[in-house]
Amino acid sequence: MKTIPVITVDGPSGVGKGTLASLLSNYLGWHLLDSGAIYRAIALKALKTETDSKDIETLVKLAGELDLSFQSIPGEPASVFLDGENVSNELRTETCGAVASQIAPIAEVRAALLQRQKDFRQAPGLVADGRDMGTVVFHDAPIKFFLTASAEERAKRRYKQLKNKGVDANIRALENEIAARDERDSNRKVSPLVPAEDAIIIDTSDMSINEVFQYCLKIIKKTSE
Ligand code: C5P
Repeated sequence: MKTIPVITVDGPSGVGKGTLASLLSNYLGWHLLDSGAIYRAIALKALKTETDSKDIETLVKLAGELDLSFQSIPGEPASVFLDGENVSNELRTETCGAVASQIAPIAEVRAALLQRQKDFRQAPGLVADGRDMGTVVFHDAPIKFFLTASAEERAKRRYKQLKNKGVDANIRALENEIAARDERDSNRKVSPLVPAEDAIIIDTSDMSINEVFQYCLKIIKKTSE
């Protein structure tokens, strides 16, 4: 049986992974997995049920029972539904991101979410974005991108993104939160944020999203020749 192709897009928060992954999936007509949304959804569920981010047993239960679905409209970020409710905006808040990164180091939670992520691998192909798509979840992916950019640049991008969505934000606070999240994501024992050995690393600090997209497309086309 021919394996279904996957392109992974990993990197730190605010680096433009989500936008790139969505552009690629749109262009290729492939499915899209925003794995961060799954971690954020558990975080939101934990916040709503007042579950402590150290209460492993309850968190694993929440992960196993998570009633989560995605609704995608081509060219737009997918809408995320938790318990039937559209929580897309709530998920993007810095609070959700911060709690997600506190929960994400728990090995048992990650294990409970592994199959759910793998199930997104469906024909004709998948573009998956996150932290460990190329190292763990889809380690056999033939093309792996790893995006980087300075924390300052990423804070600026996130600020613009949030403002456009009408979400209130403070650039200094964003920079501090991004730095703290980088630290937690990179230094955790389980699935730390590191490029896969065979990843193509792209520093996007001085590139527009379209430049990154075009650059990745060239690589994809070359690989499939
Ligand atoms: O990518 P996003 O900012 O939405 O992810 C939120 C948090 O979820 C990250 O800071 C990280 O701690 C966690 N995450 C993860 N593994 C992934 C995707 C996200 O640990 N594959």
